[in-house]
Amino acid sequence: MDKKGNIGVTSANIFPVIKKFLYSDHEIFLREIVSNAVDASQKLKTLASVGEFTGDLGEIKVEVKIDKNAGTLTVSDRGIGMTQEEIDKYINQIAFSGAEEFVNKYKDAAQAIIGHFGLGFYSSFMVSKRVEIVSKSFRDNTVPVKWACEGDPEYVFSDVEKNDRGTDIVMYIDDENKEEFLDENKIKGLLEKYCKFLPVPVVLGKKKEWKDGKEVETDEDNVINNTNPAWTRKPADLKDEDYNNFYRELYPYAEDPLFHIHLNVDFPFNLTGILYFPKIRNNFEIQKNKIQLYNKQVFVTDSVENIVPEYLTLLHGVIDSPDIPLNVSRSYLQADQNVKKISSYITKKVAERLNELFKSDRPNFESKWDDLKIFMQYGILSDEKFAEKADSFFLFKDTEGKAYTNEEYKTLIEPNQKDKDDKLVYIYATSKEGQFSAIEAAKVKGYNVLFMDGPLDTHFINRAEQKAEGKIHFVRVDSDTIDKLVLKEDAKAVELSVDKQNELRDVFCSWLPKNKDMEFTVTFDNIPGGDMPVYITQNEFMRRMKDISAMQGGSTMSFYGELPNSYSFVLNTAHPLVDAVVKAEEEACGSQISPINAEVATLEKKKADLKGDKNDSDLPDPIKEEIRKIETDLAGKTEARKTILKQFSEKNDLVHQMVDLALLANNLLKGEALTEFIKRSVKLL
Ligand code: ADP
Repeated sequence: MDKKGNIGVTSANIFPVIKKFLYSDHEIFLREIVSNAVDASQKLKTLASVGEFTGDLGEIKVEVKIDKNAGTLTVSDRGIGMTQEEIDKYINQIAFSGAEEFVNKYKDAAQAIIGHFGLGFYSSFMVSKRVEIVSKSFRDNTVPVKWACEGDPEYVFSDVEKNDRGTDIVMYIDDENKEEFLDENKIKGLLEKYCKFLPVPVVLGKKKEWKDGKEVETDEDNVINNTNPAWTRKPADLKDEDYNNFYRELYPYAEDPLFHIHLNVDFPFNLTGILYFPKIRNNFEIQKNKIQLYNKQVFVTDSVENIVPEYLTLLHGVIDSPDIPLNVSRSYLQADQNVKKISSYITKKVAERLNELFKSDRPNFESKWDDLKIFMQYGILSDEKFAEKADSFFLFKDTEGKAYTNEEYKTLIEPNQKDKDDKLVYIYATSKEGQFSAIEAAKVKGYNVLFMDGPLDTHFINRAEQKAEGKIHFVRVDSDTIDKLVLKEDAKAVELSVDKQNELRDVFCSWLPKNKDMEFTVTFDNIPGGDMPVYITQNEFMRRMKDISAMQGGSTMSFYGELPNSYSFVLNTAHPLVDAVVKAEEEACGSQISPINAEVATLEKKKADLKGDKNDSDLPDPIKEEIRKIETDLAGKTEARKTILKQFSEKNDLVHQMVDLALLANNLLKGEALTEFIKRSVKLL
């Protein structure tokens, strides 16, 4: 009784389409065929539970078999099976209008096309030259039937012997795919990837064991999957231990997670899953362990970037939802209402869970903070809704390891760290060692210093300042001299003439390091009671720009990235040692320098008079020429002064020692310079 017919593809022959366009993802055929078998099994169980099937269910499982001799891969189930009419209806008459058009549009999205057209079964032709369906319906008095097709629109129905109900899908693997898809290890790997949590046991051969130095097969089925994964169970039935075990099942080599969130909603969309907070430290190393997306326990993908907000992709675990459209483009996915709702639901759950942990067991929450911080900051920086919720449990940690919420911290520093403009000044350090002396000085002042060494801290600080609309200000502890960190009143004027300031600049400059990474500007500050003669500070704004540009790896802000670190070398004019240098310099160089200074003053006055209030370009040529001469003269004088001061400075161990001590206090004295400093210090002793 052979019966021939043509598969009801209207606008195009589907086989070249399948082979050509879907090729890249061809391994998913196995997922499609196995999940059809699982569906058929589940349907039968449902029918049994409502009394429509009264026969013996027996053992319900899906078997995958490789027959290298026959060149076949077979997937067998004991589900509802199909009659010839049903095969005709479900397999032959696939409504496929407009297929060509669609395929052209979504060439890249193999999975999409398969899902969209219910082409699951036909994906078997991606790897097979011939496919047979051997099936017997569960209904009484039906005859088994065999359908065969060789990758063209023609199929053949024929009689077949089959006693048990259910379906065998027999795939005659293409010659070019044989090596891959008739290989047991490969098939095992694919089943483990796509079928690991299917709800019906999937069996690949028998379990093996070692006996007398040989690997032998046992009688026991080798079941690939866990049919009852944790996320499908009720939270009330699970202990922490169960959640951790499931985590290990997902990521066998990962460290234990910090904690988990069990997701479970029915309305307005259906979603279950378990998310885990992993230990994430420091840099965003490329995440190996990703959130896995399932559709009714069938693995779909582990790239969920378009489904959950980006910062949540730092989490691990499983999301299972039949309501996430899998058959559409990325842009469509992002605009999809369900996806939006799912994404905000997850955000809400994550924030709630964190809040609950914070409230119920703060010490525990604090102990995990270092691992949580980067995740929290990423969320706050990228998701306004999350940021609002996180405000109450985001923690600031100080250099001594104490943690405060933002509210608590404001209360703590309010009395002492408000500046003259009523701004609250948050002082922070990025290195406890590098900024040690500045931190100590701040403590002496009674300031609290936050510890912010994370990769997102600079961004986080920028955002916090913006949000507070000028009411708070962050400064790194070494961004200014201690008296100016929290400016209470306008700073005291420096009582040192401009000439003397210029001379001191030259004196100290000759000992300051000269290289491409560091740049120093000598400045002056009057800090009575300041215990150091010299402070080294680093401008907050420039430093932040550099930090951000370093994180972004160039491109947009590389201008800042390429600049050297610029430091201020601040001489404390109130310190006796600075005064000593001023006196020594005066004594040694005064007689030579005074006449030069006088000449410089005369030349400068002359130049100013010539120029008047005109722009350079408006001056007549003879005047321009004269000014140029004066400038050359001035440069000569300045050079002469420099040379005299340099000679003084080079013989002056005090200046040298002051420079090196300041560098040392800021972790900037290294290598050879450090060794020399030590030798010189020993000599001085
Ligand atoms: P989809 O599964 O998306 O509906 P398929 O092409 O994979 O599309 O399958 C088409 C139909 O064929 C299924 O809906 C089902 O009715 C039937 N079918 C496929 N495989 C089996 C099977 N192993 N047992 C019973 N019916 C099956």
